[in-house]
Amino acid sequence: MLIDSFDRVVDYLRISVTERCNFRCTYCMPEKPFSWVPKEQLLRFEELFEFVKVAIDEGIKKIRITGGEPLLREDLDRFIKMIFDYAPQIDLAMTTNGYLLKEAAARLKAAGLRRINISVDTLKADVAQRIAQKDVLAHVLEGVEAALAAGLHVKINMVPMQGVNDAEVLDVLEYAKARGVTIRFIEYMENVHAHSDVKGLTSQMLLEIIAQKYRFEDEGFDGHSPSHYYRMEDGYRFGIIEPHKDDFCATCNRIRLTAEGQLIPCLYFDEAMSIRDAVRRGDIKEAAAVLREVVRIKPEKNRWSEADGERSTRAFYETGG
Ligand code: SAM
Ligand code: SF4
Repeated sequence: MLIDSFDRVVDYLRISVTERCNFRCTYCMPEKPFSWVPKEQLLRFEELFEFVKVAIDEGIKKIRITGGEPLLREDLDRFIKMIFDYAPQIDLAMTTNGYLLKEAAARLKAAGLRRINISVDTLKADVAQRIAQKDVLAHVLEGVEAALAAGLHVKINMVPMQGVNDAEVLDVLEYAKARGVTIRFIEYMENVHAHSDVKGLTSQMLLEIIAQKYRFEDEGFDGHSPSHYYRMEDGYRFGIIEPHKDDFCATCNRIRLTAEGQLIPCLYFDEAMSIRDAVRRGDIKEAAAVLREVVRIKPEKNRWSEADGERSTRAFYETGG
């Protein structure tokens, strides 16, 4: 079992399989052009899988594939099947923008994927274009339907932003509710890559909007996810991910692996250790030692609310959010 210095059990690994993305979301990507990491620096699926086996043997119970956009990585279902065949009990999930999901959903399910979180920030084509910098809405919504039809357990993620999609909080909630799917609103996390004019909604602002139409009870955290859940009178639950709250990190159980093999103890901090050379050499002992050390140095708290200069310079599209 992996236990950090603050007695938190770390049993959740998020793997960013690529930093590349077919969207340019304003809250995630810079305005100016930038260059991607050269492909040869990325770990092949076989190399990532060497580490995954170590992580599972050390105590990881849940794995989420993310990115960038994970569905840009060719043969992703093959990687998922490798993990599933090694450990069918692992809770295997993915986060995607949904654009390529229509074609991929059934294959991902057949490979062993259980759950999928799809980002739906708006139901308006022009707003989607403004956020993603591309005409994406129709493909994303088709992706949601394909995931449901394939039998994947779906959740919707929305990042509400002032003056952009804040008028649609109830619409997106009702879109998810109509499909029996949980929605999680993610408070915008300030970062040095996002467009400078992006302003998020706080959880308090969100609750006030939802309370204009619905009554709900605070259910607190469910212990397994960073979401604070609320239950409506008809039983429907929605969540808010609120990293600015003081107690957000108290139950953090996760570490992150980038496509280059950087193992990251906390999304907020720049610290990371590489497992790339160890897996390329086939040195399983060294990979396990790096994993234990990254868990050991996991900080107690993030500092999202602090000034710009204090934040991590690593991008969300690199770490997988
Ligand atoms: N491309 C996929 C997607 O968008 O779902 C997966 C990667 S994305 C980095 C993972 C999650 O991070 C998405 O739900 C996205 O909305 C969220 N995200 C990205 N930048 C964010 C920010 N600055 N604040 C809050 N959430 C953010
Ligand atoms: Fe791409 Fe996801 Fe970042 Fe949007 S949030 S730019 S879809 S990685």
